[in-house]
Amino acid sequence: MKRLIALGAFAALASTTAGAATITIVNQDAAGEGFNDPTPVAALPSNPFTTRGAQRLHVFQTAANQWGALLQSSIEIRVQAAFNPLTCSGTSATLGSAGALTVHADFPNAPVAGVWYCPALANSLANSDLGAGTNDINSQFNSDIDLGTCLTGTTGWYYSTAASDATPAGYIPLLPVVFHELAHGLGFQTFTSSSTGAFFSGTPAIWDTFLADATTGTTWINMADNATRQASAISDPNLIWKGPNVTAEQGNFLLGAPILRITAPAAILGDKTAQAAAFGTYAPAGGLPGEIVAAADGAGASTLDGCEALTNAAQISGKIALMVRGNCNFTVKVKNAQNAGAIAAVIDNNAASGLPGMGGSDPTVTIPSLGISQADGNAIRAQLALPTTVNGTLTYLPTLAGTQVSGGTRYVRMNAPNPVQPGSSVSHWTVDTFPNLLMEPALNTSIFDDVDLTIPLFKDIGWNLATPDVLFGDGFE
Ligand SMILES: [Zn+2]
Repeated sequence: MKRLIALGAFAALASTTAGAATITIVNQDAAGEGFNDPTPVAALPSNPFTTRGAQRLHVFQTAANQWGALLQSSIEIRVQAAFNPLTCSGTSATLGSAGALTVHADFPNAPVAGVWYCPALANSLANSDLGAGTNDINSQFNSDIDLGTCLTGTTGWYYSTAASDATPAGYIPLLPVVFHELAHGLGFQTFTSSSTGAFFSGTPAIWDTFLADATTGTTWINMADNATRQASAISDPNLIWKGPNVTAEQGNFLLGAPILRITAPAAILGDKTAQAAAFGTYAPAGGLPGEIVAAADGAGASTLDGCEALTNAAQISGKIALMVRGNCNFTVKVKNAQNAGAIAAVIDNNAASGLPGMGGSDPTVTIPSLGISQADGNAIRAQLALPTTVNGTLTYLPTLAGTQVSGGTRYVRMNAPNPVQPGSSVSHWTVDTFPNLLMEPALNTSIFDDVDLTIPLFKDIGWNLATPDVLFGDGFE
């Protein structure tokens, strides 16, 4: 199962779709650095260039072309871009930042009067260049990532432009970061202060006509004063997006939190909290049932960890493989289960608290997998030892993760941590959605070229699509 709106699939449409936007990079870097860095590098399967700067430009232009293929505009969108040293430590780093360079209100054809629009959208709607000769978006990306001095264990950026050209361990893919930052510049932001609640130059943003408090239902534009908006910005989980397109399409992109539902034996029935893997696929929305069988590999530090080829493939084939955490990467375990014919894998924790992280990347893994607690794993193993057949279903809680009800309608939540995090609060989705979304505040390794709910949000704020709408909202497959 994968989500649609994989931007990579749209590259071929760019030249055939009438009305698609042209997004032009305005390289801000000096000779010999950033996008002009002459350092020789090896060509990648999806990036044929052989200098670091040229590979960076190719990733950027790929993302720009693919956004351009999705959005309708007759006016060129000009994006300033540079690689610069940004915030960076061993434990956290700013990967990139971007935003609109100007704001526009009450232009010809403005759908809503008295609110700010970003220039790319305002130009598109006005069908003229409102700021002729000026650039529309400013963006920068963290050059220190390639020094290997940020984020302990990180070697550098990976300049792939195709999901099949998988990011190796220790690298950060640039492409999803460019998609994310360009989306901010294309309108995924408010101009109102998340710290003070004050409108920019006294005028609200189109964003504020959809941003709302779930308890009162009031949108930011209609709140009584700055203090009310300031409080709303830190009101997690009550900051919601009331746009009609996002609200209508949320169920096509979101699921409930993943669970392992034990359906037999009676002694251990019930929904077990689970962590879905960042790699492989997700179980279908209707669930994936199967018999749970403990994997055996007959070698290594543990014969139950699935770190070597499974020796009980005859028992595992067609079943859900149970493997204990530890001794190798999650991707190795799940791949071994897949090679043995398993339809899914469940990894039980080797520590008393929490769930296995289930991180990693391996595009050859095609089965879904979940991490469960040590206690739940022990309970399953105790039944298997009797021996008793254990059946389970990889499925989801009924409530869409990262949503909140307001006035009887369910809405997607926005990021509203307390205390406020300028640059992260309000102009991103909540971090609680499942699956993860492109426009969450932190990069999720499960996302490479999906733009998911960003498109319905762009429709809410006024964008017209260049790509026929029938391609969207088809949901999970
Ligand atoms: Zn962001």
